[in-house]
Amino acid sequence: MQRVEQISINGQWVTPQGTELFDLFNPATGEVIGQVRLANEEDTRRAIAAAKAAFAGWSATSVAERVAALTRLRDALAASEQALLQAIVMEYGAPKSRAVWMARYPVAVVDEAISALKAFTFRSQTGLALVEMTPLGVAGLITPWNSNAGFICGKLAAALAAGCTAVVKPSEMSALQTQVVINALHQAALPPGVFNIVTGRGDVVGEEITRHPDVAKISFTGSTATGKSILRNAAENFKRVTLELGGKSPTIILDDASLATAVPLAIQAGLMNSGQACIAGTRILVPQSRKAECEAALAKAMAAVNVGDPRDPATTVGPMVSEKQWQRVQSYIRLGLQEGARLLAGGEGRPENCRQGWFVRPTLFGGVRNEMRIAREEIFGPVLTVMSYRDEADAVAIANDTEYGLSALVLGEDRERAQQVAARIHAGRVQVNTLAHEPRAPFGGFKHSGIGREMGAWGLSAFMEPKAIISV
Ligand code: NAD
Repeated sequence: MQRVEQISINGQWVTPQGTELFDLFNPATGEVIGQVRLANEEDTRRAIAAAKAAFAGWSATSVAERVAALTRLRDALAASEQALLQAIVMEYGAPKSRAVWMARYPVAVVDEAISALKAFTFRSQTGLALVEMTPLGVAGLITPWNSNAGFICGKLAAALAAGCTAVVKPSEMSALQTQVVINALHQAALPPGVFNIVTGRGDVVGEEITRHPDVAKISFTGSTATGKSILRNAAENFKRVTLELGGKSPTIILDDASLATAVPLAIQAGLMNSGQACIAGTRILVPQSRKAECEAALAKAMAAVNVGDPRDPATTVGPMVSEKQWQRVQSYIRLGLQEGARLLAGGEGRPENCRQGWFVRPTLFGGVRNEMRIAREEIFGPVLTVMSYRDEADAVAIANDTEYGLSALVLGEDRERAQQVAARIHAGRVQVNTLAHEPRAPFGGFKHSGIGREMGAWGLSAFMEPKAIISV
């Protein structure tokens, strides 16, 4: 049993004043593996006060000083990769292949923030005005359980690069990963108060951060419902917000696609992170003229997916993160059947080889109409829907007929045509014939998938305000 009893305030390990204990589980077995002592409102206020006190000093540092500090953080994170990998597999159940990527991601995002900082234009002249990009102040950074360490580091690196100080509220379900990140932050020897990490409940620590008048900016990644409540709280004192929310992303298989390449990409996009990814391509759109062929190929590929022990390198789909999440996914599988969809693969219950833990059978529904709830609501599990379209215009209309707009994938042999279809999709990011990630590109959502952008210069400016100094 691991005990997590400390948070980080003002550069120090601190025992929270909060006394509530929260169980950590191994999702692959359902066993309790640890306990976290949760912070309360008072701990949060202390963290905000420390960040406020540190702001004047940190915002006055030079770009070179901030690059040096972030480089120390990058090196400390690189040295923590194995510890992070273990924590990710243990408390989260990410298959090892995915967990390896997730354990490296914090280094990649800090590297990216360093490059963006070096290239950033802080001052520019426009007519009589000198336009200066100035840091906003104390930033509240709130992260979800999926890829918790990556989100903490991405948001923190951008905030610090911009000259803000920060209070981070990570998911309480990812406390082991958070401890590894805090260790790295302490090793990087940043000035006290510049970062503070307060692990606690969303409705306690999160609420305090989003309501507190000394917090100038909220950067949040999580569900659309929580994003709405954060936006309401932020309105009280006009906090600036970046919201990275949910998705129900389309994958369009065009009629000229080679199924040998398109089907594995479509399945991989849908089952990314065992289906627990905001960008997962959960609505697969296939041409009516090739419907039977596409459904058969997709069903065959789904049935062949390796579900199992996340420590096994051959596993591609691990367990759901929690029992609650498992129940939620099961209820959507039942709902799909009630709505009249046809099971092409998977179904309710656990896979044959995983009788314990929170494993789901990778499930594919055919006969889906876009108005069904399984096609409209984010399920956050390995449950994919297949819908057919008449022609390109119909495919684009179905793809865009969603309240979300985070990501999309277009697959077809004629690259130029696929790019033209991509241009008509309302989403913050559209991939064409690839699942490649570009960390220098802006990342964020249209519509209910969010507000604002992260990564690159976009990510840095989200923590700044332009100021015009006019002189003659
Ligand atoms: P969540 O909204 O339940 O929680 C996210 C974080 O917000 C947690 O730290 C939680 O404790 C905190 N929180 C909860 N209530 C709060 C409140 N009232 N005030 C302030 N903070 C509060 O989301 P989750 O279940 O942890 O994560 C899954 C969701 O995140 C999915 O909807 C997924 O699509 C989304 N997500 C989006 C992106 C993106 O980049 N767009 C990336 C990953 C996940």
